[in-house]
Amino acid sequence: MTIYAGTIVDTPGDPFTGDPEEALAVDQEGALLVREGVIGARGPFAALHAEYPDEPVTRLPGGMLVPGFVDTHVHFPQIRAIGGLGMPLLDWLERCALPEESKLADQAYAQAVAAEFLDGLVSSGTTSALVFGSHFPAAMDELFTAAGQRGLNITSGLVLSDRILRPELLNTPETALADSADLIGRWHERGRLRYAVTPRFSLSASDEMLDVCAQLLGRGVWFTSHINENVTEIATVAGLFPGAHHYLDTYRRHGLVTERSVFAHNIHADDAELALLAEHGASVSHCPTSNCALGSGLFPMRRHLEHGIRVALGSDVGAGAGLFMPKEALQAYFIQQLLGPYGVSLTPVHMLYLATRAGARALGLGDQVGDFAVGKDFDAVWLCPAAGSTLAVNLKHSCDTADALARIFALATPADVAGLWLRGQQAGPRPGNSSRTE
Ligand SMILES: [Zn+2]
Repeated sequence: MTIYAGTIVDTPGDPFTGDPEEALAVDQEGALLVREGVIGARGPFAALHAEYPDEPVTRLPGGMLVPGFVDTHVHFPQIRAIGGLGMPLLDWLERCALPEESKLADQAYAQAVAAEFLDGLVSSGTTSALVFGSHFPAAMDELFTAAGQRGLNITSGLVLSDRILRPELLNTPETALADSADLIGRWHERGRLRYAVTPRFSLSASDEMLDVCAQLLGRGVWFTSHINENVTEIATVAGLFPGAHHYLDTYRRHGLVTERSVFAHNIHADDAELALLAEHGASVSHCPTSNCALGSGLFPMRRHLEHGIRVALGSDVGAGAGLFMPKEALQAYFIQQLLGPYGVSLTPVHMLYLATRAGARALGLGDQVGDFAVGKDFDAVWLCPAAGSTLAVNLKHSCDTADALARIFALATPADVAGLWLRGQQAGPRPGNSSRTE
């Protein structure tokens, strides 16, 4: 057992459905007792230390300990393709993303990319992710192998497409079924790994391919894809599926809209689509920096919330501007501010919730991670800036925890991740770095 002592902050409540202030839990001079990777007790440090005087104590002075971040939409084959600015979605895919994704046909290349990607998640404080995979089965084996070695909570799957993309990225419905079934057998529910059926988008997946996806979903795995990201994409999809009522219908009529479905973007959704998503309990991954970088549009969060849809955050690397989820939360805040009366006024509590517990719930992991409730896995990030940094100055002058959180969301970078634990195993920088503030 280990006792972790410091300022413990999480969002056990839902600030979107209740009072935001009550959704936040703060233990100043608090502690978590962790036993075999699971939180066994929570409370004031003095009380826990008195109850367990012989247990080792890891002190986390300064900053705050928050739940590990959850990224609900991120492309592992694009870790080397961040920063392609100045293009809308379909041009960016053709010129930046897909040429890079083709390189993962080389298994050694894929192995190196998987390591860079997963190490990037860890150093950014992300402990759980729904990862958009590669078009190549061997590359998926590399990702799952490396994620399992690191102890990350990863849901991912082979990307399926049978039209329009570069020829080397296409599979047939037959090979897609066989390769996906193999991967599910090898990786689904192996430790913290799970499988997600992943057609790239219905633009590049025929009805036959989407039927294969439905067959695979019957094996109890997850589903993810893109939807309603860009107006040209949407018009192209409408032309490819003349009988569909709307973009979501291209998935719905194959039974792909379920409680285990996570759709990325959904910027240009109509009310019928929002009602369907809510009816089927599907989740939406909002990817703010990507939406801004590609000029895709301003996410209608208010309409999603009014329909009762679960919304979480995704970095959407490589269209997004990095893996650090607090940056996504800040960009989400900016977008909602720009929407004025049509936006949602996000507080720092909403932002922490979106970066942690909302993601855990969208991925069906709400009982395991996302906050520090007793019985959950100890997936945690210690955010603590270097002494003298602008964030350190601002934390020193914050008036309460919500104010400190606001300053963290405004200023923090991955350099402020001072420690990270995956189910109790230390994975990031070690606590005790003397340059940290106290
Ligand atoms: Zn994406």
